[in-house]
Amino acid sequence: MSAQLINGNHLSQQLRGEIAERAAALTAKGKQPGLAVIIVGDDPASHVYVRNKVKACGDVGFHSVLEKYDASLSEEELLNRIRALNEDASIHGILVQMPLPKHINAFKVIETISAAKDVDGYSVLSAGELMSGLPGFRPCTPYGCMKLIESTGYDLRGKHAVVIGRSNTVGKPMALLLLQANATVTICHSGTPDLAYHTKQADVVVAAVGRRNTLTGDMVKPGAVVIDVGINRNDEGKLCGDVDFDSVEKVAGYITPVPGGVGPMTITMLLMNTLESAERN
Ligand code: NAP
Repeated sequence: MSAQLINGNHLSQQLRGEIAERAAALTAKGKQPGLAVIIVGDDPASHVYVRNKVKACGDVGFHSVLEKYDASLSEEELLNRIRALNEDASIHGILVQMPLPKHINAFKVIETISAAKDVDGYSVLSAGELMSGLPGFRPCTPYGCMKLIESTGYDLRGKHAVVIGRSNTVGKPMALLLLQANATVTICHSGTPDLAYHTKQADVVVAAVGRRNTLTGDMVKPGAVVIDVGINRNDEGKLCGDVDFDSVEKVAGYITPVPGGVGPMTITMLLMNTLESAERN
């Protein structure tokens, strides 16, 4: 058996086409969606991420602002920039690229972003809305994973989903979204003694660990849906996920590749959140 590939590039393109159409309709009414991206410091990977986000905005017809600051920027200066963007009517989403320099309190930064513009969905309010099943901004990566699963037509109702990882940005919101879709959810983490015991029973596995080969074929139930969030490098320096693709794709029913799976969906869902913010505004 060979798993069906869930193509994140393809789904992303399709969704970005829909986003561009809705953005054009808003722009025609004089309300072009706008995203502000702030980056502090010179982490090369973070600069690549923000460039991609800004480019994606242009591709779907959004207005975007990229603010780059030296690592010496004070916390108060950053908070003041966010406060100014909160008041800027042309901006519907504010994203501060993580990680931030150590002297800046990331929690304070996230909480300073207006709840109406928290398109990353990282604030305590957004987390509470998700927890309570209220509408609100969903963190982009798990939101994208849900869209990938939905795209297969797979019905999550009553299925057993195992999420590996419990970060506030991926693992925990992922588990809550699966729960909202009426799956029975197990969350595993570094303190889980026998990971394979859980994954072998799972109809759906989402791996969000940051360690390659965390999930191998012998740990997967035949026919399972496997979503690989991880971004790692193999010995040859090539991009790979948390899932050992070659062994798992022989057992799983559906699988996302790395690259070309969850990665492109994360930016797409950021665009979706920004669009919805502009539409709501
Ligand atoms: P994180 O904050 O480091 O969390 C990793 C989680 O994995 C933690 O909850 C940790 O458990 C758990 N873990 C570590 N070792 C484990 C093990 N041996 N068995 C089971 N669980 C284990 O990372 P993250 O931000 O959630 O990101 C996870 C991965 O996804 C990373 O590779 C990241 O680069 C990638 N990512 C990709 C995208 C994308 O767009 N494709 C977006 C975001 C993140 P403890 O809580 O016990 O420490």
